[in-house]
Amino acid sequence: MAIDTQIFTDIDYDKNGKQFGMLGVPQSTNKSGWATVFVPICVIKNGSGPTALLSGGNHGDEYEGQVSLMNLAREIKPEQIQGRVIMLPMLNRPASESGTRLSPIDGKNMNREFPGVRNNTITGIIAHYVAHALPPLADLVVDIHSGGSTGHFYPSVNMHNVPNREQMKKMIEAGMAWGAPYVFIYRDVGGEGLYPGYAESLGKTTLGTEIGSAAQFGKETVLITTRGVKNVLKHQGILEGALEKPAREPEVVGAEERDDYIMAPISGLFEPFLELQDRVQAGQPIGQIHSHELPFAEPYPVIARTSGMLISRCSFPLRRQGEFLATVVRPFSL
Ligand SMILES: [Zn+2]
Repeated sequence: MAIDTQIFTDIDYDKNGKQFGMLGVPQSTNKSGWATVFVPICVIKNGSGPTALLSGGNHGDEYEGQVSLMNLAREIKPEQIQGRVIMLPMLNRPASESGTRLSPIDGKNMNREFPGVRNNTITGIIAHYVAHALPPLADLVVDIHSGGSTGHFYPSVNMHNVPNREQMKKMIEAGMAWGAPYVFIYRDVGGEGLYPGYAESLGKTTLGTEIGSAAQFGKETVLITTRGVKNVLKHQGILEGALEKPAREPEVVGAEERDDYIMAPISGLFEPFLELQDRVQAGQPIGQIHSHELPFAEPYPVIARTSGMLISRCSFPLRRQGEFLATVVRPFSL
């Protein structure tokens, strides 16, 4: 299928075997009028079977997906799979190279640009190609995120509560197969244009994740990511071998109310009272904010409006009014 795009690539998505390649994105800069930004891509194919589309680095400061997918791209041999695996470990490569959530070139958030438009700045051009060329080939779409530089997350596999119950059931099953501690049903409170939301709208079995944070990045979070991707590929019948069971069975939780997402009522330094997985009751303070302007006044209490368990909290204490502080979840069932 021909895609109307500015992006070029040598990758042949129908070829058997393993290909390492690049998506070439035209980019004209002050230093070079004609230049190209290369977004890495690996395709592994063996005969017919389902296709998995895996991405990391949608946000540049989220490292779990980037490192796990680079390892898996080298590790997985074509003869170990039936079908196809397409991996983009650094979807927003400029953001990855600068260690930032947003692109340093156009200041855009890749995960607010989907499905993108052909003639856009670099982030929108990449999103447009990915949206139109790749999910149509895929049965399973996985976009690996974490809290990056700003949030701690108890590791989870995520999805929206999509209206199609059959699709939702398949997504929860795939999420359970991953083997992270939680399968987390979330709602959008930070804008539209998310890549996982777009893939869900196409009816694809879609998984996002929130696995740790830049500060939590290490052996355990990379293990949960790598083992999870392999488990999901096995669960879909693409990768050979038995699923690796985690130490504890994943729990399905949801945060479907806007009030489950607690934002800073005033600017200042947020002092948390709770840690991840702590229980919270509506009306209970989850922390307090110390004001720069009134340093010796009583700190401003941050009150939970819903009851449940804390699955995430901000990792950087300096907050402006309206910025994210914590998320409250509770058991979810279909
Ligand atoms: Zn992210």
